[in-house]
Amino acid sequence: MSAIQRIGDSRGELHYDLDGAVVKIDETALRNEFPAGSKYSSGHIAYKYPPEERPVIMEDITPTVGRTGKIAFIGRVVDAETGKPARLCGTNVSNVTLHNQDYIREKKVGIGGIYSILKSGDIIPKLVECLTEPEHIYEAPDHCPVCGEPLVKEADTADIRCVNPSCPAQLTRTISHFASRGCMDIMGLGETLVDTLVKEGYLKSYADIYLLGDHREELIAEGVVGREKNTDKLLSNIEASKSNEPWRLLAGFGIRNVGNTTARNLMRTFHSLEALAAADLETLTAVPDIGQTTAEDLREYFDSDFGKEMLARFTEYGLTMEQEDTQQSNVLEGKTIVVTGTLTTLTRNEIKELIENNGGKATGSVSKKTSYLVAGEAAGSKLTKAQDLGIPVLSEEEFLAMLS
Ligand SMILES: [Zn+2]
Repeated sequence: MSAIQRIGDSRGELHYDLDGAVVKIDETALRNEFPAGSKYSSGHIAYKYPPEERPVIMEDITPTVGRTGKIAFIGRVVDAETGKPARLCGTNVSNVTLHNQDYIREKKVGIGGIYSILKSGDIIPKLVECLTEPEHIYEAPDHCPVCGEPLVKEADTADIRCVNPSCPAQLTRTISHFASRGCMDIMGLGETLVDTLVKEGYLKSYADIYLLGDHREELIAEGVVGREKNTDKLLSNIEASKSNEPWRLLAGFGIRNVGNTTARNLMRTFHSLEALAAADLETLTAVPDIGQTTAEDLREYFDSDFGKEMLARFTEYGLTMEQEDTQQSNVLEGKTIVVTGTLTTLTRNEIKELIENNGGKATGSVSKKTSYLVAGEAAGSKLTKAQDLGIPVLSEEEFLAMLS
């Protein structure tokens, strides 16, 4: 114990960093009598020293916009004694995360304040406490530092968010989401390419995807997508996506709480995006599984200038805005179905569509409310659970037979 203590005490004088000491049994024969546990291997035991702490001065606080629009605060700090980055556990620390306004208030964070920070192992540096209070506690801005639009405070968390869908800080993400497999499914338009197209100024919103064809020569000349063949392939995939079912477009808008299940559900009810965009809160909340929050998120999008512009442009570019009636039958009316394992003829999306188009509801987890479990190859815990609960298990063939 005293050796461990001595090593720990010498931490500041060593010209390398350490965070612990290991005691090892010399005699190999005895090691097996000291079996392995979660914190040690056989014959060894590790001691961790308490995390190192340093006092730092808060020099600056910068709000940054994350890819989801969430505003994060980064504190820039220097060691209060050396004036240089704080040295903790072998790394130079000059930034600390300040989470949100509640955290900032609680820790009395402001420029000029002195704080102790700690870092242990590979954990992000953490602000422990305020040692000297600053003159002013930092106040978060009320406008997005990137696009200048007003920020919105989340109802149930302390987070604030930029909800402007064309905020440049979020553009790559919103456009990639639009083009992704679960939405418009535009092959070849992945995040890296989207990022390039945003940076080169070709894309300022997801509607601009449908104007890329106007820049064909330029794109080829500059090799943005690749050579002629790749560029044309991408442009033809973009063209083909115009005839996608409109729930894909709706899911692609990136409206909060409107993922592809909700989008399908809404399009089954409203059939056209125009009708959906005109529906009031009461009409929206009357749709099964649409709550007040989702209804408000929908209204916010369709009432915004951005939403109106997007809808008008997609109509102008000739995208499919009306959902054909895909309802095949009501065989599965009132049934909740879970699919697990690998299927042989259907993809997960296809079976989900089949369930919904026949009046059923596809869910992800088995419960007492599950009507059937469709189990493919290598079904695991969901199958066991269904069997335990006595829920009927169907093979893929049995499921398809049920529909015919
Ligand atoms: Zn913004």
